[in-house]
Amino acid sequence: MSQLKELQALMRSLRFVETSHKVTDLINQAEKQDVSYTQFLWSIMLNEQKQREQKQMEKRLKWATFPSHKTLQEFDVTEQQSLSKKQLNQLSDLNWLEQMYNLVLLGPPGVGKTHLAIGLGIQAISLGYKVIFISMGDLVHALKTEEITTKSRVRLKRIRDADLIIIDDLMFMAMDQQEANIFFHLINELHDQASIILTSNKAPKEWGELLGDPAITTAILDRILHRVEIVHLNGDSYRMKNRTTIFDQESVSN
Ligand code: ADP
Ligand code: MG
Repeated sequence: MSQLKELQALMRSLRFVETSHKVTDLINQAEKQDVSYTQFLWSIMLNEQKQREQKQMEKRLKWATFPSHKTLQEFDVTEQQSLSKKQLNQLSDLNWLEQMYNLVLLGPPGVGKTHLAIGLGIQAISLGYKVIFISMGDLVHALKTEEITTKSRVRLKRIRDADLIIIDDLMFMAMDQQEANIFFHLINELHDQASIILTSNKAPKEWGELLGDPAITTAILDRILHRVEIVHLNGDSYRMKNRTTIFDQESVSN
């Protein structure tokens, strides 16, 4: 075996897998540019680190199960009058995620709620957070079948492990009592250990009607709206709000 092949095998056994693929290039480059030993070692380490980060990012993107790849860069604020560039930047810096705030994105269909949620999710992944995207319908289904199917169990484990859970299209369909209960249990578990992004075309005060149980609704809202940023798309306000003002808000769909 050539020395180079042996070196590559050694690198693989030491788990420098990414570098082992590129070591010939790295050596050639160093010889051509006549770099110092320190610089050479540095480039080796840097390459390994970058490749690992890249792989990790790809893995996390796959885990997140986004329905489509929509970035914040593709989100046009001039299209969205109700959100300024500055506000979008505030959202993208993810301080709210660091502080475990939840985010509620409200507005009628088509205004970019899902796009914004995915964009923020991708941004969070690029900063090393674990993110998962799930529609409300799929979430309820997963919760109901957790005991029965491995797929649901895996999905829910990832949800419980995530730093950011995006629940899309909240209250799209009315839930029955049992569904509302298991949903509340999950929110209760996630509370204070992760951030949640909810998108909905109904204002929080209307969620109660869809859940059909005022006690559970109040309990869920209490958890979600405890520390929250509400973003109205196509509305006229974007502010930090407390629970009392949220309840006073008009429906976003009119
Ligand atoms: P919603 O979830 O509010 O119903 P979506 O996020 O699905 O809306 O947006 C509908 C389509 O319009 C998507 O393809 C999305 O990428 C696009 N879109 C909406 N708002 C914007 C925006 N401000 N900039 C760029 N694309 C947008
Ligand atoms: Mg949507």
